[in-house]
Amino acid sequence: MKNPDILVVGGGASGLIAAITAARRGASVTVLERSKKPLMKLLRTGNGRCNLTNTGSDRFVYHGTDPSFAHAVLKNFSVQETIALFLSLGVYTTNHDGWVYPYSEQAESVAKNILLECSRLHIKIKNNETVTSIVRTAPGFDVSTKTWTYHADKVILATGSSASLSDSEEENGPSLAAELGLPCVNRIPALVPLITESVGKPGWAGVRVSGKVSLYTGDLFISSEEGQLQLTDYGISGIPVFCISGNAAKLMDAGQSCSIKIDFFPDMDTEALRAFLDFRKESLRRNEPDLLLTGLFPEKLIPVLTRKNTLTDTRALTQSIKSFRLKLKGTLGARYAQVLGGGVATDAVNAETCESRQHPGLFLTGELLDIDAACGGWNLQFAWSTGVLAGRAAAKEIDGV
Ligand SMILES: Cc1cc2nc3c(=O)[nH]c(=O)nc-3n(C[C@H](O)[C@H](O)[C@H](O)COP(=O)(O)OP(=O)(O)OC[C@H]3O[C@@H](n4cnc5c(N)ncnc54)[C@H](O)[C@@H]3O)c2cc1C
Repeated sequence: MKNPDILVVGGGASGLIAAITAARRGASVTVLERSKKPLMKLLRTGNGRCNLTNTGSDRFVYHGTDPSFAHAVLKNFSVQETIALFLSLGVYTTNHDGWVYPYSEQAESVAKNILLECSRLHIKIKNNETVTSIVRTAPGFDVSTKTWTYHADKVILATGSSASLSDSEEENGPSLAAELGLPCVNRIPALVPLITESVGKPGWAGVRVSGKVSLYTGDLFISSEEGQLQLTDYGISGIPVFCISGNAAKLMDAGQSCSIKIDFFPDMDTEALRAFLDFRKESLRRNEPDLLLTGLFPEKLIPVLTRKNTLTDTRALTQSIKSFRLKLKGTLGARYAQVLGGGVATDAVNAETCESRQHPGLFLTGELLDIDAACGGWNLQFAWSTGVLAGRAAAKEIDGV
């Protein structure tokens, strides 16, 4: 068998875009994928709709030891170039307030078109092939799975993370990199539901409500986000919660105690809300606080906010609605996270090419790197940009290109 010019380890978002980019430049590319099919995670993105990028500002959206690495990467392959790349794959996009989706609103069609292009370019995709070791040879690399050792001049390591995978599917990307001597930062869940202290029985599980959630450690405010909150039996979830969860996870991992404050009525300030409740009380001529909140909140949430009808004073009731405090007990963990923070340290990687500084010919992409992002398409954008940069650079010195 002729050795491929480039071996891609991981047939996910960044791996297959790297493969396409390199093959479009004439390289012969083989992809080794651990699952029975490539792009399994992509199918679940954006609730099956695939929020593939974002045209808003990328300021403050990236996290990691050095978020400027992500900004440099996006400068080298931008959001607009990504939208054009997808158009070249036949994926026309639609933009909802900056959040970009395929026009079909189906992740499946994005995956199909990526795979169509792989097939057109004769990229070999070998499924059920878990890479267990990568050894530097001179020249190139030996890449071993349980059944075979492949040799290639260039390797693109695109193994993603174990976010949302079952416990049996532990990731080994960081350990493959660490065995090659690359520094790695501890993995921590980001974009993950939070476990809170109990709100008492019967609880609030199943309620979806608009609100603003703020994260504190002690009395120190860390960050806040507004949007739809999903209240659950273990605590709280939803996009605003995901957005504050990375900071919460890091603080709790460092042994700090954290709490959240929920404002269940951000539409009115405290005084206006209290005046409204006083007016309702006056006009109803009834004292049960539950009645005052009917029409403002879902029925199931009302006894939680009124502490089972015991908060008879409108000042205390307003406080409960505007500043509902709960201690955090942890996160639901990697299995329930959308992304993981940590990974291969970005100072070990060139932001123009995604090439390892230590091992020329080895490239690292996507979520394997110590970068994670807020919701809104930024994680996939980082996967696409790093994939293109790696594919482009890996194909560069190959004969005939
Ligand atoms: C439920 C969910 C929803 C999401 N929604 C969005 C969204 O709408 N927008 C957004 O921007 N981001 C979203 N994300 C995050 C986004 O999917 C990831 O950040 C992105 O897929 C990372 O791309 P990647 O190429 O680094 O990794 P992946 O896409 O995870 O690909 C890695 C691939 O490598 C394979 N692999 C791993 N180890 C090995 C090995 N040893 N040998 C061979 N193969 C291996 C894996 O099986 C996998 O196919 C979501 C994530 C989840 C879980």
